Amino acid sequence: MMRFTKFAATVAAVGALALVGCSGSGTAAPTDEAPVKEDVSFEAGTTMAKLHDAGKITVGTKFDQPLFGLMGLDGNPEGFDVEIAKLIAAELGIAPENIEWVEAVSANREPFIEKGEVDIVVATYTINDKRKEVVSFAGPYYVAGQDLLVLSGNPEKIKGIDDVKGKKVCSVTGSTSAQNLKDAGVEVIETDTYSNCLTPLRQGEVVAASTDNVILAGLADQNPGEFEVVDNPFTEEPYGIGLKKDDTEFRNFINDTLEKSFKDGSWAKAWESTAGKVLATPTPPTVDRY
Ligand code: GLU
Repeated sequence: MMRFTKFAATVAAVGALALVGCSGSGTAAPTDEAPVKEDVSFEAGTTMAKLHDAGKITVGTKFDQPLFGLMGLDGNPEGFDVEIAKLIAAELGIAPENIEWVEAVSANREPFIEKGEVDIVVATYTINDKRKEVVSFAGPYYVAGQDLLVLSGNPEKIKGIDDVKGKKVCSVTGSTSAQNLKDAGVEVIETDTYSNCLTPLRQGEVVAASTDNVILAGLADQNPGEFEVVDNPFTEEPYGIGLKKDDTEFRNFINDTLEKSFKDGSWAKAWESTAGKVLATPTPPTVDRY
């Protein structure tokens, strides 16, 4: 279990939430997608061969998180997680239109993978030891940090986690965010998705909503003038791609794909066409081949 004293050292690595814009992002421009690989072949019996031969992949992602995973009115999701999934699919020779998107919420990610309801989860999914007991992770492909979302003007003058101890804060069941708050002595009001924390915050039932800074930045951007991110992250949240436990070949393949995307610019392009509308482009993290 991460302790808050340890966070001080890691928070510096997360860096401040750098905003590049402040108005609602509206409809995202069509993205410049990675070319779908043709003439690829994979060793028989591998997950890569199975997916390539089927010509489709099922991806669990968030549907209500602007910048990372947001379902559009046309039935196509948008966001950085969505683009990362497309990069993986492209490397398997699968076109974006052959990706089946399934809504994942924080609490159903491990069960979805364990039951085989999805092939991968790309859903602001923190890699940690507890989850590694039931699923495997490729990545990280981004490192976020937990922060607080408050009403515009910050009426309660909340500067960081210490200011909400013993107070009511909204977060999501099954997330590292809810657990970290509880460990810090915060009274957590739980719901199923972060967008469902906005009404309790507006109505003063909670003093803040809390999860990863980039998720909060997306919610603030989606509701111009209503909310602000405190911008004092207190954890480190390395985002991984969840897959069946111990499918080492598939995990290596995704790690190779990520490393390639870090080098050839497709990762940066994926960022710039999505989260980059609001947040500065970070440097890619180092893949952890644990
Ligand atoms: N990254 C954290 C987690 O995986 C919080 C965000 C989320 O719930 O998706 O639990």
